[in-house]
Amino acid sequence: MFKKSGLQKRREIKAARAEKARHGVVDVYCDVAPKGSLLADKKTLRKVNPLGPLPNFYVDRHFECKDCGSDEIWTAKQQKWWYEVAKGCISSVAVRCRSCRHKEKIRKAESRKVHLVGLEKKHNK
Ligand SMILES: [Zn+2]
Repeated sequence: MFKKSGLQKRREIKAARAEKARHGVVDVYCDVAPKGSLLADKKTLRKVNPLGPLPNFYVDRHFECKDCGSDEIWTAKQQKWWYEVAKGCISSVAVRCRSCRHKEKIRKAESRKVHLVGLEKKHNK
């Protein structure tokens, strides 16, 4: 029997997710959690507007990377982690793919270093 490699399987799962995310626009504020969604723990969510609505659950979201334009999926699991563990702002969403996010992190660290070196020079004058 033909056996699929792990990578191929992962690719297929990713493609299937992308397809789902593209078609099903899900209302995360309704009470019925769709299949494949993750329930939100509202108590742990960081609110911006205390009266604003909070999602009942998370579903995979499709987005285009801001930097390279690649098709990406922000999974329900990643969202739950972002909002509930990392305490990300409820209105913030994923905008970059993994590799661009990594590049952005390096870029920020670099510019911070440059800034600090600049400050040091100024103080030592
Ligand atoms: Zn990207």
